[in-house]
Amino acid sequence: MSESVLYVVATPIGNLEDMTPRAQRILESVALIAAEDTRHSGRLLAHFSIKTPMIAVHDHNERQQQQKIIEILAKGDDVALISDAGTPLISDPGFILVREVREAGFRVVPVPGCCAMITALSAAGIPSDRFAFEGFPPAKPQQRLNCFSGLAQESRTLLFYESPHRIIDSLKAVVEVFGAERPVAIARELTKTFETFLNGSAAEVLEKVESDPNQRKGEFVLMIQGAPEKDGSALDARAEEVLDILLEELSVKQASALAAKITGVKKKVLYQAALDRKQD
Ligand code: SAM
Repeated sequence: MSESVLYVVATPIGNLEDMTPRAQRILESVALIAAEDTRHSGRLLAHFSIKTPMIAVHDHNERQQQQKIIEILAKGDDVALISDAGTPLISDPGFILVREVREAGFRVVPVPGCCAMITALSAAGIPSDRFAFEGFPPAKPQQRLNCFSGLAQESRTLLFYESPHRIIDSLKAVVEVFGAERPVAIARELTKTFETFLNGSAAEVLEKVESDPNQRKGEFVLMIQGAPEKDGSALDARAEEVLDILLEELSVKQASALAAKITGVKKKVLYQAALDRKQD
């Protein structure tokens, strides 16, 4: 194992006071900084008087640049990876680089700091014990609806990133798929001057954003409270549908066992429902 290191360094998501002293020291000390956008990160480095040279590593050149970075590490020099804001790899480039650098036998060391989704969740007052981060919802309306539909029964809190020009469409899709009453929160412009949290039912949050143009500006984290946990004792419309389809081809025992696996409803409940259907 070589001694040189690729540091994965989190940077602020708005407020420059969130830059950690360790991040600053490491960005000063490495031989090279691999940045998503060198012009953007140039402003951050200038603010902290960091003069380390940079190269651009983004989604379109990550594979080419990884070779250069591995050569630098092989010479015994350290490299740092940063993105425009927050933690690299989290809806940002870097995964391929990190994987390849590890596979090449070098150490990869995280230097933690800001991450918008964790920052949002930490103060939103929405359940935070179990959550799933889903990145950006698809931009195309039908794909977005499909994506949300696949998550409608998810019991963990769902976290998404969203841009200002799609926040209303996404909230409308949330109302359509998760229902107007599903508790939702949006965190806007975290750590910045106009930081805002809006909480309420999906319909209420949509109404607040639609009625106030200021609430559509900036960067967003969308949080959707999970669906209530099923205890498996109730037969819902989906379980009935699945059971009916399976009963066309299978025995009562097989259909109820398979339906239980697919829907999470208890086998006993499905077995009884299947028997009732056969007797009708
Ligand atoms: N890697 C970053 C992180 O650790 O959070 C995320 C990068 S992703 C390309 C950018 C998205 O993160 C924005 O479109 C927005 O959804 C969210 N985001 C970043 N900064 C934010 C902020 N200050 N307030 C709210 N959301 C933010």
